[in-house]
Amino acid sequence: MSIAENLAKIKETIPNHVKLVAVSKTKPNEAILEAYQAGQRIFGENRPQELQKKQAELPFDIEWHFIGHLQTNKVKYIAPYVSLIHGVDSLKLLQEINKEALKNKRVIPCLLEFRIANEETKFGLSIEEAKEMLKNAAFSELQNISIQGVMGMATYTEDKEQIFREFKKLKSIFTFFKEELFEQQDSFSEISMGMSGDYLLAIKEGATMVRIGSSIFGNR
Ligand SMILES: *Cc1c(COP(=O)(O)O)cnc(C)c1O
Repeated sequence: MSIAENLAKIKETIPNHVKLVAVSKTKPNEAILEAYQAGQRIFGENRPQELQKKQAELPFDIEWHFIGHLQTNKVKYIAPYVSLIHGVDSLKLLQEINKEALKNKRVIPCLLEFRIANEETKFGLSIEEAKEMLKNAAFSELQNISIQGVMGMATYTEDKEQIFREFKKLKSIFTFFKEELFEQQDSFSEISMGMSGDYLLAIKEGATMVRIGSSIFGNR
């Protein structure tokens, strides 16, 4: 099937209130353009330099989301245009994003990444770490970032029950921080979870954003 056909099929399964991030990492511009011509506008990338190049070469009304682990020294490559950074997991990174956002005279929307999988290697905050960060005086000084929700990746497993529990956990983390610290901020509203293999489950558990790559563009 073509990229346009894959997209159409996936969109049929996604309710209107859920945003689809088409994960185009490693894929060439032609593939992205095919999805763009089929109406897709939000794309996700996980390498700053690759994203920088694609942003310069592709239509300017694309909303670029950064979905991977971001190193502080690479923030500068994406700060001028990135629409949402999904994987923020330290105050140091937030401070760097704030600094680059200020240089570009903008506010950069970010999601806090939480560790919900039981795999050692995954990045992300614990609830305690996030609490500490958000209550830190240094956090309240950051005027050029906007925390808009949470993001997480489930364990890579066939065990649907486990994935279900992990998504449920992220949803409860979202609700906790919404009530605790972001009650007054309407823009704190996003739960980014679900990929090609598990996005339907993620939507059932409350995802507002799904990140889908291989089901649209084929295997990497
Ligand atoms: C690659 C990637 C995806 C997309 O994965 P697929 O299985 O290809 O849909 C989603 N989220 C993150 C953070 C990724 O790195």
